[in-house]
Amino acid sequence: MNDNYTCDNCEFTAPKNEFNDALDLHCRLSAGSTFTDVECPHCNALAYPTEHTPPTTPLNQVSPGNHEEAEAFVHHILNTMLDINLSKKKDKLTSITLALAGYPNGLRQLNG
Ligand SMILES: [Zn+2]
Repeated sequence: MNDNYTCDNCEFTAPKNEFNDALDLHCRLSAGSTFTDVECPHCNALAYPTEHTPPTTPLNQVSPGNHEEAEAFVHHILNTMLDINLSKKKDKLTSITLALAGYPNGLRQLNG
């Protein structure tokens, strides 16, 4: 659990305790917006809990007819981390890539 806050104006990001208590909250918060009670120590704009977006990799973007980028990505990881070179085993690389991307049955499953 990360309790970082990010300034709405200058994007300063830090743990909540590095922000100042927000003044005049009742007239600064608008209805329906995320609640906050701190403001930026640098520009005094309101700061909100930092939003987390999950990391994306080429594996998230595999689609029918588009898995080359993901294959290159997997190839690079296997090569650099495990010293495995699959450039001569393209079918294996495709199978591994698609399995990692959520298609354990490979191209048949990807292409429906
Ligand atoms: Zn700021």
